[in-house]
Amino acid sequence: MPDSTTATNVQKIRSREPVRVRRPSREEALDAVRTLIRWAGDDPEREGLLGTPDRVVRSYAEFFSGYGEDPVALLQRTFEEMDGYDEIVMLKDIRFESHCEHHIAPIIGKVHIAYLPNNRVVGISKLARLVEVYAKRLQIQEKMTAQIANTLDEVLQPKGVAVVIEAAHQCMTTRGVHKPGVSMVTSRMLGVFRSDPTTRREVLSMIGTPAGGSGEHV
Ligand SMILES: [Zn+2]
Repeated sequence: MPDSTTATNVQKIRSREPVRVRRPSREEALDAVRTLIRWAGDDPEREGLLGTPDRVVRSYAEFFSGYGEDPVALLQRTFEEMDGYDEIVMLKDIRFESHCEHHIAPIIGKVHIAYLPNNRVVGISKLARLVEVYAKRLQIQEKMTAQIANTLDEVLQPKGVAVVIEAAHQCMTTRGVHKPGVSMVTSRMLGVFRSDPTTRREVLSMIGTPAGGSGEHV
């Protein structure tokens, strides 16, 4: 049963959602890909490229499926039966693939989410789905970090939320400055994770040193 604070917060989240645009027809999208192929310098009518516009359009539907999803509805089902559990809940190393909104180049990385419950917990798969909703859109990493943290904070109203994202940006590794092996780390701390240094240290040590430790590069 949502109280009035939750209702106000839900409105706040919804008002931040991207404005619905008129979707072009599938044929218009296919033509746009043919135009980009010609812009690259090749012939969209040659055999090897004939099926490409169709594949690109289908890939776009997958890459950007997050626009059709409602992040609030996703988190609405919570559990209150916690038997007094009042410690940090954390989901680590949630892999994601997104696309930067400046170059439409892939951003690939990991999200770590932690929250300190306040009588309500959410199924852990929902945390992973929340990442997907925001990753499958045109993004910048800072915004995605804030969106995940704010939505979790506003719907679940826990005592604290921490979101850390580490990711490699292919617009930086395969073009522009060409710096492979660089990962960007962003974080957003809310509630006690922001205000209480001890709790903040605890959550950061549970996450581990971002971009260190595992040695794995994305
Ligand atoms: Zn970029």
